[in-house]
Parts: sequence; structure tokens; C-alpha cells
Amino acid sequence: MRVLLLGGGGREHALALALADDPSVEALIAAPGNPGIAAVAQLRAVDPVDPVAVAGLAVEVGADLVVIGPEAPLVAGVADAVRAKGIAVFGPSAEAARLEGSKTFAKEVMTAAGVPTARAYPCTDEASTAAALDRFDPPYVVKNDGLAAGKGVVVTDERAAAEAHARECGRVVIEEYLAGPEVSLFVVTDGETAVPLLPAQDFKRVGDGDSGPNTGGMGAYAPLPWAPPDLVDEVMRDVVHPTLAEMRRRGTPFSGLLYVGLAITADGPRVIEFNARFGDPETQVVLALLETPLGGLLHAAATGALADHPPLRWRTGAAVTVVVAAEGYPAGPRTGDVITGGEQPGVIHAGTARRAADGALLSAGGRVLCGTATGPDLAAARDAAYQVVRGIELPGSHYRRDIAAAAIDGLITLPG
Ligand code: AMP
Repeated sequence: MRVLLLGGGGREHALALALADDPSVEALIAAPGNPGIAAVAQLRAVDPVDPVAVAGLAVEVGADLVVIGPEAPLVAGVADAVRAKGIAVFGPSAEAARLEGSKTFAKEVMTAAGVPTARAYPCTDEASTAAALDRFDPPYVVKNDGLAAGKGVVVTDERAAAEAHARECGRVVIEEYLAGPEVSLFVVTDGETAVPLLPAQDFKRVGDGDSGPNTGGMGAYAPLPWAPPDLVDEVMRDVVHPTLAEMRRRGTPFSGLLYVGLAITADGPRVIEFNARFGDPETQVVLALLETPLGGLLHAAATGALADHPPLRWRTGAAVTVVVAAEGYPAGPRTGDVITGGEQPGVIHAGTARRAADGALLSAGGRVLCGTATGPDLAAARDAAYQVVRGIELPGSHYRRDIAAAAIDGLITLPG
């Protein structure tokens, strides 16, 4: 089959590697892609949030399947436009992508479906914000009610900081703080049948020991040695199937990748958020462990045939990815620096570009590269991932030194 992959970050590089590995994928085209993806796919330029342009490209390249990486095209209706051309798409409709695009909508669906999540209040002005904050003790959780590329949430003990974030965003959701370790669970679904991937954990804060501001994600690992053995079954039963049923009931079935962000609290798993696409950088580790060919799996989901797909096969061992970020990330990343070591095996490109004059590899985003590795266990995978990272040179760059460390040292405890 011919596959068009939309996007150009680390997630898409990981998707491209897995798709290129699938013997049923005879041609892989990525738009816009990135210099890492260029090694395994033909690149095409496109505005990823322009539904007409993407649908036109899908027709032009003769795509049998379009895989949409990022959230913005989904919310913009790109999946709908491609489907209207009769081409299979892995990714939800704009209506269904509201599970990610609007925190208020996601809460409505969760409430209707009886999904366990934080109590929450939508707020649009200072009075409603103040009233909502009064209902909670610190730490306060204030979420931008729209797409914010993973950076729209402030968790703070300072009421003034909570109020300031609410003012800046305009529309926010203020919610109960969920205490407990976090899990990212990816679920591939055709709207009815749902197949969970391996749970992973990511690292949102920029600094070691979860210090500093939130980022798009600084690293990830899978599997989770500390997770309760029945976690995935419980989340499928209590969260995923009720949510998919509610979306069908509304006439807007969700197909594609349902990303369930959870906190494992003393009262059990609680949903922190839904996303409508693969998470970055968890995709890098989850796909590194997936043995089942990815193209066939995503095509089955895109065509309503997931019930007939064979059970997933996983590699034994573990995977770790460590993000190398540009100087100044997340506040104000510096771009345009020359990178060396960006072509070694295990390097995933997230924010890179080629200099037209001489083909040099340059930084072009906040999260620039990820060092990814597998190993027989988490410690071995971690050591191998840091070995990759040490081979990368990017002036002023920084990365966390503690990715997967607490899990390896047995320091993650479940509350209650
Ligand atoms: P989100 O954009 O909703 O994924 O939030 C980003 C990060 O903020 C999450 O990964 C959590 O670390 C944190 N967060 C969001 N909501 C909550 C909550 N209700 N309780 C505790 N932490 C939260």
C-alpha cells in the first residue's frame, strides 16, 4: 500500500520508521516530513492544516492510507477532507477530535460516559475563575480550553499565578489536582473495536526531578514495571469503551488514536486528558517495542476492520527516549544552530532542518532530537539511549538526566 504521513516532528519520524519497516508499505510519502524522515520516505511540501491541500496531495500521490500525526490538522478537518475523496485515513473527524481540541467538550463526554476524571469547572471570566478556585485547595490546575501543544496547563500552589494564567487564556477549565504517577495509554480504534498499545510514561517538566515549567515532553519509557497488572484492562473497561460508545451515541464516532493520559490515584486511575493522536515522545518508545507491522494495523483501524486484525506482538525488553532540547526551551528556544551526530542510529529528528547552501543539519525547533534505544531491561535501554544522546552535539542544548531513573530504582510508588 502507498501511505502518506502528515507531520514533521519526532512522533512522525518514529511513525515513519515503523511504517517503512512494514513489508506491506510499498511507498511512504511524508509531508512536510523532516531531514530524519527523508531517509525512509519521499518528502512533499504541504500546509498540514489546509484540508483541501492535503486531500489534493493524497489523491496526487495515489495514497491508500493517510496517517495524520499532529492534532492541528485533525481539528482543522483534514481527516474529513481526505475521507471525502474516498481515501482511508488514520485519524478522527474534526467533530471527534474535539475530545482533544476542547477540554470542556472532553469533560462533557467523560461525564456523560461515567468516566473517572478530575472534577472540573469551565470558566470564562474573573468571577467564575475565583469561584472555581475557591472550591479547591492548592495545588491549582488551570487548563487553557483549546489546543496549546501540551503547554496550556499551569499547576501551581500560588493562587495569583493560577488567576494570571486564567486571565491570559480567556477560556479555561479549573480542576481538581490528581495526585499519583502518570501513565500514557495509546489505543488504536476504528470507533468500535479498540486495541491498547503498551502503557508508557513521559516527562513533562523541563528539569531533573520534575522541576521547572511544563514542556511538550522531555523523554519517555515503556513498559512500566510499577504499573498495576490489571491497569490496561481497567482503563479499557472504565474509560475507553464508555467513551467510544458515547461518541457513537452522539453520531460522531472516534476512529484513530485515542491517547488516554491518566493519573494513578489512591482511588484508582483517573483521566487527566484525552488526545486525538499519538503522543510525543511516548510514540518513540511504544513503536520501538511493537513487532506487529504498523501500516496494517493503522489501515485496519482506518477501514473499520480492527476486529479482524490479529493480536499485537511486542518485543521483549524495554525502550527509552531522551529529548535533546534547544537552548532557551521551552520559554524561547534558539534555532539555527549546527548539529553534529544527528545521523547516528537511534536518533529521532523532532525539530531539524537542512541548510539550503550546504545541507548542514540545523536546529529548527524547541525539541530538536531524541536519543532512542531498546534493551533487555529498562536500565540497559536507558544506558543505550543516553549513549546516543552523548553522541549528539548541539550548542547550548540541554536534556534531562533522570529519564526512567525512578522506575529503574523502584522509587515509583502507587498511592493508597
Ligand atoms: P495536559 O495538557 O492536560 O496533559 O496537562 C499537562 C500536564 O499537567 C499533565 O501531564 C499533568 O502532569 C499536569 N496535570 C494536568 N491536569 C492535572 C490534574 N488534574 N492534576 C494533576 N496534574 C495535572
